[in-house]
Amino acid sequence: MGTRDCNHTSAMATPSVGEAGRTGDWRTQRPVVDNSKCIPAKNNSPGCFSCWMYCPEAVIKRTIPIAIDLDYCKGCGICAEECVSGAITMVPETDPGAPKLGVRS
Ligand code: SF4
Ligand code: SF4
Repeated sequence: MGTRDCNHTSAMATPSVGEAGRTGDWRTQRPVVDNSKCIPAKNNSPGCFSCWMYCPEAVIKRTIPIAIDLDYCKGCGICAEECVSGAITMVPETDPGAPKLGVRS
């Protein structure tokens, strides 16, 4: 069970449009996930999700494969730093070949 699954009150918030607009607009680099390295995607089972736990914006979904809400991802790179298998790479927003990831739903 993760901290967001328990019934206790938490300071975590669901990403939404605030006075500053969609915070993903500030981003200069984006996280790109290599599912061939991501543990849950490789094993098709829950496990790991360190990126979800450490993301300060709560924009990573604990799904298989994971999904990142780029409308609100600030591009801080913490998920890439914390990924235990090196599955996340930060790429410049200006890279035209950068795959899109994390469609807001
Ligand atoms: S770069 Fe990673 S840790 Fe930072 S806001 Fe985006 S998804 Fe979250
Ligand atoms: S931390 Fe890395 S291996 Fe773990 S779920 Fe996130 S992307 Fe996958």
